[in-house]
Amino acid sequence: MADGDDDAPLMNEEEERENEGENSSGDEEEEGGGGGGIPFLGRLRLEFRGRVNRDKKKKRPTKITYDPSLPTAHSYLGSDLEEYSGRTVLDDESYITLPLLQLPGVVLIPGQTLPLHLFNQRIISMMKHVIQNNRTFGLVHDSRRRLTDEMTTVTIGTTAEIYSAKDEEDSGIETMRVKATGRQRFRIVDTWRQADGILMGKVMVLPEIEVTDALVGARLASHNRLKLVPVSLMASPGAGGDSVLRQRRKRKLSAANLTWWPPWVYEMYDCDALIFHIKSELRSWYEDSLTLEKVPANPVDFSYWVASNIPLDDNQRLGLLEINSAVQRLRRILDLLKKCTILVCKGCGQHIANKSDVFCMSLDGPMANYVNPGGYVHETLTLYRAQNLNLIGRPSTENSWFPGYAWTILQCRHCTSHMGWKFTATKRKMKPEKFWGLTRSALMSGMQGDIPGADGEPSPMI
Ligand SMILES: [Zn+2]
Repeated sequence: MADGDDDAPLMNEEEERENEGENSSGDEEEEGGGGGGIPFLGRLRLEFRGRVNRDKKKKRPTKITYDPSLPTAHSYLGSDLEEYSGRTVLDDESYITLPLLQLPGVVLIPGQTLPLHLFNQRIISMMKHVIQNNRTFGLVHDSRRRLTDEMTTVTIGTTAEIYSAKDEEDSGIETMRVKATGRQRFRIVDTWRQADGILMGKVMVLPEIEVTDALVGARLASHNRLKLVPVSLMASPGAGGDSVLRQRRKRKLSAANLTWWPPWVYEMYDCDALIFHIKSELRSWYEDSLTLEKVPANPVDFSYWVASNIPLDDNQRLGLLEINSAVQRLRRILDLLKKCTILVCKGCGQHIANKSDVFCMSLDGPMANYVNPGGYVHETLTLYRAQNLNLIGRPSTENSWFPGYAWTILQCRHCTSHMGWKFTATKRKMKPEKFWGLTRSALMSGMQGDIPGADGEPSPMI
């Protein structure tokens, strides 16, 4: 599909003044209020404001003046939440009973933050009970299109520990705002509904199996010091540490020559080597917008960090949650990273962005969970460039997930699916002036050759 005017789906088309750096301001109509789109689309009189074409000249922002800690605070939930400290660690392979929360569009990864805005009285009373106990509940992905009382077929979930919460009553309606962190994976053994309607689950906490160095028996103890790779070097491939790192890895695996298998076989299952290769792949995504020195060094935490920061679909994520060992998880992630070069609309396969358009606006990384005032959690990926999108409604700063930026709803130009939001700076000196926040649930990863042809037909994606 060409980006001419022939396919304009809505009225009042107004060419987006991307290149002039202007916001698509206008003097008509109402705010697109609501802070997040989907639940409000039905009752809002939305107005098409412009279209987004790919700006080939647009460069990756080199200067970002924005404080990346602002989005991590989730300040749109208010500053009056009560904080809780401490951490509950559940024993591996232990069987426990805990209340379950099913959420559509969310597959919680250990380490991820989960903000919630709750309106359901049953769930609010469940959360109050959870806070009085060990502040831990189970989060299970809800794959159903419509919410019913039946449990989904998903049998894997993640414990979430509440670290901040506030409940309040407004006009007789009780609501609750919660911030929680993903902790441990579990498998559901049994579920039942209590008399008060709360869904309970008997779950087994999944273990994190750590594989010992396979060559430890073949290597002379005196050579052990040669296998050590300083953390500072591990974190900086590409920054001059490459050759040293390769040498160290070679030495580390040299004992393989005393075994039946060559070093490259061991390298395929070596955590350090896998982390090195994944970081090299990630550089083609984020370039220097993310300082990879700050990501976790521990293979388990690193594997979860990457899993929560690349736009995998729900099934790919659930597949990663099934894996009990960091080595296998890292191998799967590397495989998925190599297969993805572009991001396309899940609804129609339209090319929306390249992986190199991704950049970081938050300390959490390029992707994080945010909740809109309707209670819908959107995992949002930040990009500095996107295409084939239409802007809907007018910019609004209400409940902005990125304080200082106004949001405008984005739709896919081809199938009109909700894709996310355009964020524009409200102050002149803020850098970047604008960026795109696309919701993971609307995206799929694909290969360059998968881009649909001129007829706009969707093509099969990985
Ligand atoms: Zn689409």
